[in-house]
Amino acid sequence: MSDCVFCRIAAHEIPSKVVYEDDDLIAFHDLAPQAPVHILIIPKAHIANTNGLTDASVEVVGRLVLRAQALAELRGISDAGYRLVMNCNGEGGQTVFHLHLHLMGGRQLGALG
Ligand code: 5GP
Ligand code: ZN
Repeated sequence: MSDCVFCRIAAHEIPSKVVYEDDDLIAFHDLAPQAPVHILIIPKAHIANTNGLTDASVEVVGRLVLRAQALAELRGISDAGYRLVMNCNGEGGQTVFHLHLHLMGGRQLGALG
């Protein structure tokens, strides 16, 4: 998906501040952080959003969450707390249509919605 910004970040065609990478996942700082820690964790393979998940996605989704857990620990926000968010489509607030998990923390976060 050459027109997908996150596919292009995963392919290192667009620069980003990468904090973790392996064969399947990449994590990088959000361009417009909403909290002192705001990291996006994405699968390298293109999936538009949670509507595109199947039984075959169980492992990759689990790995996204476990990577978020590890990055939260690394950033020192595990005990204070943090938020994991996946937005889906328009009313869910999704603006980039490549599955991503937001890891946000480092301050008191407000109510959802
Ligand atoms: P969404 O609203 O789709 O859940 O979140 C998309 C996120 O991607 C937003 O928080 C936005 O700031 C971030 N974003 C959009 N384009 C880029 C980019 O080119 N680089 C980085 N690092 N983040 C981006
Ligand atoms: Zn993509």
